[in-house]
Amino acid sequence: MGWTVQKMIDEGYTLGAACSRTQCFHFGRLDLAMLKARLGPGHSTMAPDLVPKLRCKKCGGKDVGLILHPPDRGRELRAGRPNANG
Ligand SMILES: [Zn+2]
Repeated sequence: MGWTVQKMIDEGYTLGAACSRTQCFHFGRLDLAMLKARLGPGHSTMAPDLVPKLRCKKCGGKDVGLILHPPDRGRELRAGRPNANG
């Protein structure tokens, strides 16, 4: 299966990008709306397809890694109570 820009938006995912250069390590969050406008909603967001389109804003390097952030599904915050009697 493959991810597209539109699917990421629909599913509530966010996408981060991290520069792999040890002297840089710049990290940024990608703007999916901007990617959609630039590349089209059906463009793949899989690394081999998307990374060639990206460039580090800080050093201009093309050695960029993608980080997929899943949505906060349910937001189950545990209260931390040892006993559920209550
Ligand atoms: Zn960089």
